Amino acid sequence: MDDASPSSLRRLPSVDRLLRRPDLVAAVAQHGRSETTLAIRETLGELREILKPGTSIDERDIVASVLSRIDVRADTRMKRLFNLTGTVLHTNLGRAILAEEAIEAATAAMRHAVSLEFDLDSGKRGERDDHVRALVCELTGAEDATLVNNNAAAVLLVLNTLSTGREAVVSRGELIEIGGAFRMPEIMAGAGALLREVGTTNRTHPRDYVNALGPETGLILKVHTSNYRIEGFTAEVDARDLAKIARQHNVPLVNDLGSGTLVDLSRFGLRKEPTVREAVDEGADLVTFSGDKLLGGPQAGFIVGRKDLIAAINRNPMKRALRVDKMRLAACEATLKLYRDPDRLTERLPTMRFLARSVKDVRKQASRLAPVLAEVLGAAVVVEAVPCRSQIGSGALPLDTIASFGLSLKPKGGGRALEQLSTAFRRLPRPVIGRIAEGALIFDLRCLDHENLFRENLSSLKPGGAS
Ligand SMILES: *Cc1c(COP(=O)(O)O)cnc(C)c1O
Repeated sequence: MDDASPSSLRRLPSVDRLLRRPDLVAAVAQHGRSETTLAIRETLGELREILKPGTSIDERDIVASVLSRIDVRADTRMKRLFNLTGTVLHTNLGRAILAEEAIEAATAAMRHAVSLEFDLDSGKRGERDDHVRALVCELTGAEDATLVNNNAAAVLLVLNTLSTGREAVVSRGELIEIGGAFRMPEIMAGAGALLREVGTTNRTHPRDYVNALGPETGLILKVHTSNYRIEGFTAEVDARDLAKIARQHNVPLVNDLGSGTLVDLSRFGLRKEPTVREAVDEGADLVTFSGDKLLGGPQAGFIVGRKDLIAAINRNPMKRALRVDKMRLAACEATLKLYRDPDRLTERLPTMRFLARSVKDVRKQASRLAPVLAEVLGAAVVVEAVPCRSQIGSGALPLDTIASFGLSLKPKGGGRALEQLSTAFRRLPRPVIGRIAEGALIFDLRCLDHENLFRENLSSLKPGGAS
């Protein structure tokens, strides 16, 4: 290889020579020979392309660049961060933070053999859903329950089981997009169901459903339009009335609740979201809901309701493809158990704790931290403790915000300086993610748990240094 290179490039040291440099000997000890060699080769390759003929380069600079390449590759891509967006259940930031009980259960399931599909009473093969089935039924009043990868999977599986090649009847006011690729019409197509739209965007009446029902009907789907609200001249068919219609025509009614909470949120001063128990009581044959939204557990999708329908779902080969693993099952079981003691939920379940946290408490934290940030950021940024509004996130009660407090960081340099400031916070060892509003970077402190770590983290801040 060397022979083919122009003479100016021979100034680059060989891989072997570099491997003998003390810093890179240490790198080999820490990261292994192949990682280190790869970084050296890539660095030399890059230098060959960018070095002008005749220039030479200090070997120490090469070593430094090799080391930083190794660091970049070794760095964790999915980073722990501070969610100061004000959105408690932020889908892009991992939604619910789990309770310690759930974390312990998941850790134990990872570390040890567990009775995942093993019945300890009979010594025979058991079913993985058994660990949560009774608990879910107890908490929701449903006859039976099963769980899958997420709520999107739950809806997909229900549609695929009950209405492949048949019609799924849905109100035009409920053909929602949740975000990403989850759009009701598309998930129906994917499940092999034929979408039968009824009513109009703003008004759907009982007769619209009745007129659509026939031998082709596989199910009626009611979708909780949690992420938007239509106001004004509107009408929808109440779940109880819809359940009557479904029963009269002998077709199953499925209610996709989306977030689906197990407790009445009005106890935390939020507007009431329908609970799963209520949806079951209202007469839905099946109810689907997420594990990592208001429930505050790991990603999962629950399907609860009639025993014969759950049995049919469990027989669907797709169930196997959508099932959850032992870690999440363990975390689900532990999370659900916390609901047996609703009075202590706000202590034990982070999602509830964040939602229920008093403005007064958040405001105190804001006044503590405002001077700290002002000092770190200097005169170029105006830092103030300001009132703001948090939201639940993940499509739950999007119009109902919660009074909160935060820090407003307003750079004197305007738009570009604001962009640099938010970049600087994103590049911290523990990135801090806020939101930009009205020319300021806002950190809503509702979800700030580890204040000391937050403070220590600030010492790495290089505002304006957009490197
Ligand atoms: C969020 C949501 C879903 C999807 O749930 P995931 O758990 O994110 O898969 C489906 N339906 C409704 C109504 C939702 O709000």
